[in-house]
Amino acid sequence: MKVPFLVIGGGLSGLAAAIRFARFNPEVLILEKHTRIGGLNSYFYRNNRIFETGLHAITNYAEAGDRKAPLNRLLRQLKFSRDHLDIHQQICSEIVFRGAERLLFSNDFQLITEQIATKFPHSSDGFGRLVTLLDSFDPFRIAPFRSARQFLADILPDRLLVDMLLCPLMFYGSSIEDDMDLSQFAIMFRSIFQEGMFRPGETIKILLDRLLDHYRNLGGSIRTGAEVREILHDGRKVHGVVLTSGETIDCGVVLSTIGLDETLALLHRPPLSGDTIRLGFVETIYQLQASRCPALPADRTIIFFNNADSFHYRRPDQPVDFSSGVICLPMNFAGLGATSKEVRSTHLASYDQWQARAADRRAYASLKVQTAERSRMVLEDIVGDFGQAIVFQDTFTPLTIERYTAKKEGAIYGNPQKIKDGDLGYDNLFLAGTDQGFLGIVGSMLSGVSMVNQHILNKF
Ligand SMILES: Cc1cc2nc3c(=O)[nH]c(=O)nc-3n(C[C@H](O)[C@H](O)[C@H](O)COP(=O)(O)OP(=O)(O)OC[C@H]3O[C@@H](n4cnc5c(N)ncnc54)[C@H](O)[C@@H]3O)c2cc1C
Repeated sequence: MKVPFLVIGGGLSGLAAAIRFARFNPEVLILEKHTRIGGLNSYFYRNNRIFETGLHAITNYAEAGDRKAPLNRLLRQLKFSRDHLDIHQQICSEIVFRGAERLLFSNDFQLITEQIATKFPHSSDGFGRLVTLLDSFDPFRIAPFRSARQFLADILPDRLLVDMLLCPLMFYGSSIEDDMDLSQFAIMFRSIFQEGMFRPGETIKILLDRLLDHYRNLGGSIRTGAEVREILHDGRKVHGVVLTSGETIDCGVVLSTIGLDETLALLHRPPLSGDTIRLGFVETIYQLQASRCPALPADRTIIFFNNADSFHYRRPDQPVDFSSGVICLPMNFAGLGATSKEVRSTHLASYDQWQARAADRRAYASLKVQTAERSRMVLEDIVGDFGQAIVFQDTFTPLTIERYTAKKEGAIYGNPQKIKDGDLGYDNLFLAGTDQGFLGIVGSMLSGVSMVNQHILNKF
């Protein structure tokens, strides 16, 4: 069997890359290790209930008429109808530090601008300058690492404001401890603060099903339960892949979306990241009986919080760092008319600490239960009590993410080192997705599309 274009990984970057290619040539095959597509952004069932794994909100909201906006460019490149997204905008989100300092933001950039002018008057001019600088900054130019924290500190006199601005952008996309690359910061600042967030009306399953239908209608093929064990190459050129089943598939061009070190391992090459710390997270999903939880705020969609004296975004010494995190209230998107209620919590977690307990299944399971309990108590101080309304809950750890997506150490945002041009030093093997430096749902899809446009379409 010979496939002209092979995509390793059926997450969002792989799906988007394959759809883009299939618009011109249907001879494309996606190989996905899991039985289900979506990767980090998928779903699972427990007790006949559906749980979304990686969706709080989709960033990069744009009005339909804004042709230059990343979201609309992505939809055009995929020829995927905006109607399929069934967009519901966030109501309002918030950054809360120590329960006292608060900044609201929404899909109207004016809101956070006004909040900063009122609450951080000394930094108001600086914030205006920051926006002007970012407007003329090209985040896609390949450049060495530049500290976003330092860049902000040079412009904004309020250290607290620097931390408050970094908190959501780090939690939604930094693979580096306590800092971000300035390019990544610029992309995230635009996608979260300037453009904003939304979610589809139905579950992520429906969106994934629609993307897959679209891909199949274009003639593309996919095999799930097909894990690539090895990439065959002669040092310059790739000529095939071997699956764990032992089957060999010859191919023309390969796009890997599984991560940098993960791809190098398939080539039998050493990892590039060495001992660099990878950041892991725990997420708990609490499904609630709506009638039993009157206290939850109806006017907050996502809350980014820090309760510690200083904000640290780093791998904790303990299994979980409960001092900061993200609370998502998925029913609070405009016009959703949700009949069920859910609360999701995210905290930084240590892969090593969870790994140390993995051999003892009971200890590991018990730590998950304790984590859910402790997290709930932290959340209740912010959003009000909901414990009495929980009908089902599930917690996933860095080990769960590693197990289901093969992401090394379950690091959602991947390798701290990014390969921005997707070039792995082979004539016909390229990298897309998280480790190309584009994160989140829209980011990873744009990554798949842009790698196909830059490196692959011209080879056919
Ligand atoms: C808890 C959580 C919350 C999140 N919240 C949000 C959010 O609110 N908004 C947002 O925009 N983003 C969110 N994200 C991030 C977003 O889901 C990811 O950035 C995005 O889905 C990454 O897509 P990807 O295609 O680059 O990688 P992946 O999703 O990792 O896709 C890679 C695929 O490759 C497969 N694979 C791995 N190894 C092999 C192999 N050897 N052979 C074949 N297949 C293989 C994996 O199974 C996987 O399906 C969240 C993620 C998580 C986990």
